Amino acid sequence: RAQKCTARKILVEFQEACETPLPRLRQVVDAMAVEMHAGLVSEGGSKLKMLPTFIDRLPNGSEKGLYYAVDLGGTNFRVLRVQLGGLEGRVIKQEYEEVAIPPELMLGTSEQLFHFIAKELAGFVAREGEEFRLGDGQSREIGFTFSFPCKQTAVNSGTLLQWTKGFKVNDAIGQDVVAALQKCIERLGCKMRIAALVNDTVGTLAGGRYWNNDVMIAVILGTGTNACYVERAESISKWTGELPKSGQMVINMEWGNFWSSHLPRTYVDELLDSESLHPGEYGFEKMISGMYLGDCVRRVLVRMAQEAGIFGPHVPHTLLESFSLQTPEMSRMHHDDSSDLKVVAEVLKRLYGIQNTTVGIRKIVVAVCDTTCQRGARLAAAGIVGILKKIGRDGSTANGLMRRNDTNGIHDELSVNSTPGSGKTVVAMDGGLYEHYSKFRNYMQEAVRELLGDASKNVSIELSKDGSGIGAALLAASYAEYV
Ligand code: ADP
Ligand code: MG
Repeated sequence: RAQKCTARKILVEFQEACETPLPRLRQVVDAMAVEMHAGLVSEGGSKLKMLPTFIDRLPNGSEKGLYYAVDLGGTNFRVLRVQLGGLEGRVIKQEYEEVAIPPELMLGTSEQLFHFIAKELAGFVAREGEEFRLGDGQSREIGFTFSFPCKQTAVNSGTLLQWTKGFKVNDAIGQDVVAALQKCIERLGCKMRIAALVNDTVGTLAGGRYWNNDVMIAVILGTGTNACYVERAESISKWTGELPKSGQMVINMEWGNFWSSHLPRTYVDELLDSESLHPGEYGFEKMISGMYLGDCVRRVLVRMAQEAGIFGPHVPHTLLESFSLQTPEMSRMHHDDSSDLKVVAEVLKRLYGIQNTTVGIRKIVVAVCDTTCQRGARLAAAGIVGILKKIGRDGSTANGLMRRNDTNGIHDELSVNSTPGSGKTVVAMDGGLYEHYSKFRNYMQEAVRELLGDASKNVSIELSKDGSGIGAALLAASYAEYV
């Protein structure tokens, strides 16, 4: 059939444009390491903002008391409380509530957004059970997880540089988001204090480190994507403040904005970018993260529908709507292992009213999902290996292990429960894309192994589910006294 033939041509062209063979992936790894360096040297030195977080020590297990976290960043808003029992008791009890962020708030005013958060938080505190106890004289301290780029001026203050993902609340840009939320909390008569502003990657790093001293890097693969890691403070040339006692600093890379000519960019990416809320920004994120993968697939399908008529003489108009194919649906189609691809047929019918597709056409749809997923996963892998390379943990230099002593243990007292010189590097991972999209996860792990070769035995990627919430609360605990 002519349709199928034209569709195949579009598919093959897309596949070729998306290819990430090992040599190309290595170029991405190198570009990531180079850009990281450039971003640390001077402000604006790279598309990678490499933001100092003012976090110069990570949790060590001794944290005690009742702490809170609020998490704003993607599709859901979360509040959490955790009762910490120190090295013996660890996490005694935790509780969280989650609500979807009303879509109009993502595009409204700063006032509306922060009032909404404060109100949810106040309600959450009002519903607190007896089993949660504040220590004597302890106030309610919050770790505020805010997964957007902020220029921090202290652990508990930072101005918003720009929105990403599905958010665009213009008047918040340039505002101190901590002060804005604190004001709304106080206006509700709620006695709580924001002790730390925490990017979700940093929360994940802190949550991961709480349980495992080998955690040096945290990566988010959810609605958006980002990474942070522990850097030697003296490598941060642009840092003008006093060097932290620990000699280390967590850097929020904002890697979603990474860019390199080695990235396999296609017409789909150009269209997606130009029609997005933030054109020209976060190009890496747009090729990788959960908010966008489904839409990449949809755009290829649109082209096949228009040029090859794969869904009949008319292009279903709902197929033309941005984000009508979400990544969880893409993932369901991709994982369809029935011989006649029933799930693919069901999704196409339910979302777009498309019926009577042949198995051949459905196979093409699956192939588009596979290509898009594989590209995203392999690029994420290259990003991770780029960070490992930057900190000398990719096995390429002999000093990897020697540098270990000064990069391991951001907190001096960390040695309480550390096993020095284990030689391992752990990447704490969080996010719904990595957690639920198993083919994405497998492609990513496979590419990390390919890139690292032998050194991959010293690196592990560990899912640290909802680590960022606990992590933010832990950081509130360790920084509360310094507020
Ligand atoms: P957020 O990043 O919004 O803080 P999560 O880490 O829970 O929240 O990630 C949610 C994102 O993960 C969704 O936006 C979606 O893109 C992706 N996701 C969730 N479930 C699946 C799934 N089953 N398959 C693929 N992607 C998924
Ligand atoms: Mg999140």
